[in-house]
This record gives sequence, C-alpha cells and structure tokens, in this order.
Amino acid sequence: MPVEIPDARVHEHCIKCKQWFEMEEGEYINIRSGGPMSQMQQFGDMCMGKERAKRFMCTGCKERRDRFRKHLAVTIVVVGLMASFGVMAIAMWYLSEGSI
Ligand SMILES: [Zn+2]
Repeated sequence: MPVEIPDARVHEHCIKCKQWFEMEEGEYINIRSGGPMSQMQQFGDMCMGKERAKRFMCTGCKERRDRFRKHLAVTIVVVGLMASFGVMAIAMWYLSEGSI
C-alpha cells in the first residue's frame, strides 16, 4: 500500500511507480546503468562515496518486472526455435530441390 504522507527517514520511494512505501513492502535491487548520462552519474556518486547502485522497488513493481522478464525469455526462446525450424525447412527444401 503506498504511503499517503511520506517520511524519507522511514519510507522508500519506488523507482518504478514513483510512490512511497514502507521499507518492508519492497526490496533494494541493483540497477544497471542505462546510458552514458547515468554511467557518469554513477561514476560521480562513486567518487563521492555514495552508494546509489541499489534502488528501492516495491513488491508490486518487482513482480511485474519479473513476470515481464520471464515472458520475454520465453518469447525469445520460442522465436529462436521457430527461426531455426524455418532455416532447417528452407535447407531441406533446397536439398530436395537439388537432388531432383
Ligand atoms: Zn512500485
């Protein structure tokens, strides 16, 4: 449940849905840098001694993200299998054409 009146000392800001949550309603995850700007920012923070690699994400957003990643992985596998079957079918067709 998002917090109505957030207190930065006891609540955390979800990086995904931008709402405030109790600390136990989510977890800290590693964020991979998305581009040169965030890499520069991370480097700056590293020089300043700040730990910004881990960000808070609420349970709901984390579940949605995990579900999306699972679907994405399955989709990639299925598309890869279909593509390899397609290549095999074309190869078989070429081979059968050549033998006639
Ligand atoms: Zn969230």
